[in-house]
Amino acid sequence: MDLRFTDEELAFRHEVRAFMKSALPERLRRKMIDRHHPSKEDLVQWQQTLNAKGWAVPHWPVEWGGTGWDPVRQYIFQDELQQAPAPSPLAFNTSMVGPVIIAFGSEEQKHRFLPRIASLEDWWCQGFSEPGAGSDLASLKTTAKRDGDHYVVNGQKTWTTLAQHADWIFCLVRTDMAAKKQEGISFLLIDMKTPGITVRPIETIDGGHEINEVFLDDVRVPVENLVGQENKGWDYAKFLLGNERVGIARVGVSKERIRRIKELAAIERVGDEPIISNPRFREKLAAVEVELKALEMTQLRVVAAERHREKGKPDPASSILKIKGSEIQQATTELLLEVVGPYALPYQPEQEEEGWNEPPIGPEWAGAIAPTYFNWRKISI
Ligand SMILES: Cc1cc2nc3c(=O)[nH]c(=O)nc-3n(C[C@H](O)[C@H](O)[C@H](O)COP(=O)(O)OP(=O)(O)OC[C@H]3O[C@@H](n4cnc5c(N)ncnc54)[C@H](O)[C@@H]3O)c2cc1C
Repeated sequence: MDLRFTDEELAFRHEVRAFMKSALPERLRRKMIDRHHPSKEDLVQWQQTLNAKGWAVPHWPVEWGGTGWDPVRQYIFQDELQQAPAPSPLAFNTSMVGPVIIAFGSEEQKHRFLPRIASLEDWWCQGFSEPGAGSDLASLKTTAKRDGDHYVVNGQKTWTTLAQHADWIFCLVRTDMAAKKQEGISFLLIDMKTPGITVRPIETIDGGHEINEVFLDDVRVPVENLVGQENKGWDYAKFLLGNERVGIARVGVSKERIRRIKELAAIERVGDEPIISNPRFREKLAAVEVELKALEMTQLRVVAAERHREKGKPDPASSILKIKGSEIQQATTELLLEVVGPYALPYQPEQEEEGWNEPPIGPEWAGAIAPTYFNWRKISI
């Protein structure tokens, strides 16, 4: 197996890098570097910039806005996007509900939803998990009963990421109470403005608001919002969760982070020495870099094998990408904290101006750097 890039692929990498440099707003790049969470407006604007370039949904079929890139080009694009560092297009839209509608939706659904999914005009959230239906998702209890040309939906979803921003939710619902549990589930598209939907925040341990409970009380959903066939939703959900595993190693994010750690460790000192000269620190950094290189090689092996894989069947090796990728991100966060010390505290002056100073939204606050750090250090990166 040859894991080297061709000259054409290297030229493509150069083109993507140049685009990121010119199109990514500096304010957003800064937020990404400081690990402050981009706002909804930031994410919508950025996805629309990518969409205008034709790059918001590169992995989709060309007729629905895809680029026709082979797996290697898709990998290079993702790597450069993450290293810019720029936000990825919203996964609920581009990697989850979009591909399901492409594969199983009606023509009417494709025309109605896909362009707005790609452009993020509609923000989607994922209504799968329920209290009592997490790992054992097939035991979900939210029901959808047919009433004329509508389904009437009742139940509760939980852990619904960013439901507070969502225009639409794709839900797994039970349409046949008598069938074996996997065989009585359907995949419904529900407008979040429908009467009977209540979104309640779940505050995370860091004080953030990323996840929610979503209550559905007698929510009337037109029958035309059913994807594919009634009671076949479990198959569509498995297809969706398979896609979720692609591109989750976030190798580019970790590469960018290591670059940043090295820059800052050359400035910060312990006693007379910059941290980067400390043998113990170098050892830890090198260990993470070796792990990252191994992860990148594994990711490339998965990419290289993609051409020969049966469509819709995820590579079993991709499971390791999620686990290893997350461990490496945690390790780089710890190294960054070691370098910037107290400046890693969850402090955001711009939020203080708004009358509150809670940690930034989301689970990754511990990796955030106070903006004052860069002013204080007179660093411009
Ligand atoms: C930050 C975050 C965001 C999320 N966003 C969404 C979202 O947007 N939409 C959505 O639908 N869901 C979302 N989820 C839900 C997520 O997919 C579920 O948490 C996951 O499916 C696990 O379910 P659970 O949390 O109920 O854990 P449980 O299923 O209760 O599992 C608890 C523990 O028991 C173990 N366990 C479970 N069953 C077995 C078994 N049979 N044998 C041995 N061990 C077992 C598990 O490994 C785990 O350690 C989110 C979760 C988190 C943490």
